[in-house]
Amino acid sequence: MLPGKVAIVTGGTRGIGFAVVRTFLNNGATVVLFGSKEESVQKALTKLKQENPNYQVMGMHPDITDMRAVERAFADIKSRFGKIDIVVNNAGISASDSLYNYEEEEFDKIIDLNLKAVFNCSKVGAKYMKENGGGVILNTSSMVSIYGQAAGCGYPASKFAVNGLTKSLARELGRDHIRVNAVAPGVIHTDMVDSLPEEMIKPIIASIPIGRMGEPEDVANAFLFLASDLASFITGAILSVDGAGMC
Ligand code: NAD
Repeated sequence: MLPGKVAIVTGGTRGIGFAVVRTFLNNGATVVLFGSKEESVQKALTKLKQENPNYQVMGMHPDITDMRAVERAFADIKSRFGKIDIVVNNAGISASDSLYNYEEEEFDKIIDLNLKAVFNCSKVGAKYMKENGGGVILNTSSMVSIYGQAAGCGYPASKFAVNGLTKSLARELGRDHIRVNAVAPGVIHTDMVDSLPEEMIKPIIASIPIGRMGEPEDVANAFLFLASDLASFITGAILSVDGAGMC
């Protein structure tokens, strides 16, 4: 579904991002995965190359919260592959502290990665997409961007903002043939969920009508659809992938 496309996936080393990378590769894209550390990037690349030595994949670890670092990384990708068609803004972190214990530094860290990095990669990516006649920006939101969350306010606040960025950029960039959408996963079986306390997760799973947590591939398939030409008239959408669960 993505033959000849060049895609960047932030937070592509594990979890949802890794599944997106693999799904895009299996659908004919060339993928540059971003991670926070050289070693996790290398680990992900080794795993992918073992699965399929023909995958067109490379890795980088720019500080995506820093606009200059993003500009350098994207310029490098453009010079290697000639274009950038798809940017998947997926890297994200959460914290579940109550407001009374929430440190200012923690709030800044979450907003920097979950929101500012999305702005940075969208701004630089859109420039190359416009030059090339169009492209697709996809953001990773969350079900908490719809319902809020009873603790850890920085995370839902960042995801509400990602929805706002998605809808606004969709309206702004449509004329440049750049579509902007977000996927809002529910409870997905990744390290992020595994790191949450069991008493927080158990009742959530019990309340998911489809009767299970989502798998990273469930989310990756939604990204694939939105990245492909099947979604050519879809922009500004926040697509829930949550088994109709509510947190
Ligand atoms: P994960 O912890 O398994 O992976 C996070 C990814 O982000 C990793 O590849 C990591 O390298 C990258 N990352 C972390 N800190 C970084 C930093 N400072 N700079 C650059 N990259 C960094 O998480 P996941 O569960 O796969 O989550 C991926 C996205 O999906 C996040 O945006 C998250 O908010 C969202 N999400 C996850 C769930 C879920 O249930 N897992 C639900 C809703 C939304």
